[in-house]
Amino acid sequence: MLTETPIGLYCAAGDFHIDPWGAAPRALITHAHGDHARAGSQAYLCADACLPLLRQRFGADVPVQGQPYGEPLTLGGVRVSFHPAGHILGSAQIRIEGDDGVWVLSGDYKRAADPTCAPFEPVRCDTFITESTFGLPIYRWDPAADVVADIVAWWHANRAQGLASLLFCYTIGKAQRLLAELAAITDDRVLVHGMVQPMTEVYRAAGVRMLPTETLVERPRGTSMAGELVLAPPSARGTPWMRRLGALSDGLTSGLMRVRGVRRQRSYDRGFVLSDHADWPALIDTVRETGATRVLTTHGHAEPLARHLADLGLDTGVLRTAWDDERGADDRE
Ligand SMILES: [Zn+2]
Ligand SMILES: [Zn+2]
Repeated sequence: MLTETPIGLYCAAGDFHIDPWGAAPRALITHAHGDHARAGSQAYLCADACLPLLRQRFGADVPVQGQPYGEPLTLGGVRVSFHPAGHILGSAQIRIEGDDGVWVLSGDYKRAADPTCAPFEPVRCDTFITESTFGLPIYRWDPAADVVADIVAWWHANRAQGLASLLFCYTIGKAQRLLAELAAITDDRVLVHGMVQPMTEVYRAAGVRMLPTETLVERPRGTSMAGELVLAPPSARGTPWMRRLGALSDGLTSGLMRVRGVRRQRSYDRGFVLSDHADWPALIDTVRETGATRVLTTHGHAEPLARHLADLGLDTGVLRTAWDDERGADDRE
């Protein structure tokens, strides 16, 4: 049903690509992260809830069509539908039904609750293509509420010392999840980098309840940032933008922070293990819940996960993606 091409997975029966990394006539998009939603295709189709994020990313001139979760549409000789993936706002698994049975491509997903998006919905299928970003047994997540409580404790301890707390996180999804989780604990306003604000406004317009935010440039010059919590993308680290913050402590939220060597190597003051991807037990459980007899792994630690699933008696394979080469195996959204 799906074959690998130089620009990504292609469905010949429906004549579309999924998350292509090159220009395609028609692209079905699982979610708005940059390694999945690439510019350059002629037309895009995504879940309804993903639409405003793609508009923000691509601009209003690019043809993007939305489809409600669970409502099938016919493309050529296949029936296609989008189902919640629980990864970020609008993230979807794509179900394809045709002569070759039912295939589901997970996109990125997680099973933990997230107040910013619809929860993952297991979909029965014959062939399941699962992401494997954290496809190693070392990756196991603590409850998000515990991690967020740790973040607040760190922030308040920094405040007591007159330091700003600079927390690095991805600008789509992680930042808004933090702002939503924090709203259960505090009413304080949070400062954000200019790259975080536009996507946060999209989430707000979608009805996601989050703490109030303000960018640094909105604050009068010379205002002290001591005691503030500031969210910024990892790319802002070490840039002149940081100077306005004064004395600070910094941290990173990522599943990667589970690995001590990575924490040390990246030398953040603090690492908070909070991921929008499924951990190892969730990957295995999810594969079981789909009932699939054939599982293809992609995006991250694809080989170890495929090996483990083969040991469980499943027919397995590995799909390669462009970003397997261009980015570190773990550095993905
Ligand atoms: Zn991804
Ligand atoms: Zn993603």
